[in-house]
Amino acid sequence: MTALEIVRIPVLSDNYVWLVHDPESRATMVVDPAVAEPVLAVAATRGWTITDIWNTHWHPDHTGGNAAIKEATACTITGPAAEYARIPTLDVQVQGGDTVRLGNHVASVWDVPAHTAGHIAYHFADDGAIFVGDTMFAMGCGRLFEGTADQMFANMQKLGSLDDATRVYCAHEYTLSNARFAVTVDPHNEALAARLAAVEAARAAGEATVPTTIGAERATNPFLRAASAAELGRIRALKDAA
Ligand SMILES: [Zn+2]
Repeated sequence: MTALEIVRIPVLSDNYVWLVHDPESRATMVVDPAVAEPVLAVAATRGWTITDIWNTHWHPDHTGGNAAIKEATACTITGPAAEYARIPTLDVQVQGGDTVRLGNHVASVWDVPAHTAGHIAYHFADDGAIFVGDTMFAMGCGRLFEGTADQMFANMQKLGSLDDATRVYCAHEYTLSNARFAVTVDPHNEALAARLAAVEAARAAGEATVPTTIGAERATNPFLRAASAAELGRIRALKDAA
């Protein structure tokens, strides 16, 4: 099995759309296309035809490009069964425990409710990669729009059970803001202080800071490091007010 090629496409103010290509089968998938045009343009530049869209949740900055990409490519759109009513373009409904394929690469679907009630993630275990949408960010987690701190704590625990080397593909460049907040709730964490400095330098140079890894998050993410749902909820409330 050849490695997946994964391309980061920055769109809107701070969204990342991920274009994922299997060189063997030439299957090409888009995770959470906020918009269509830049995604179609990047695929065309590489000579790839988009065969699939995988959505993690219904928010328009994750699904806004669905219809136009489907119209241009006749691709298949897969997403959370629990949010079918809010993603009318879905062709295939999946939920936790299901598997989805991109060529010879298999991803398992995780239920990760909290940011939205039906939010899912896609884990390519053999590739060491997980697409988490707005569930986990570098040094952050998604807002609890449709769920609870208990649910997000469970999500963090499950993500934290993955290997350190697992790459985490999140959907926003929130890293600098998250790092500046994280040091206020975890002021004696040397790994976090070092990461804040590295992120400040990267952003000043106009560089992206994701994907991140489970190992980096385990060392520096206050939501993943929270010892209880209550602690996660307290930190989340502070971040919401920051
Ligand atoms: Zn969202």
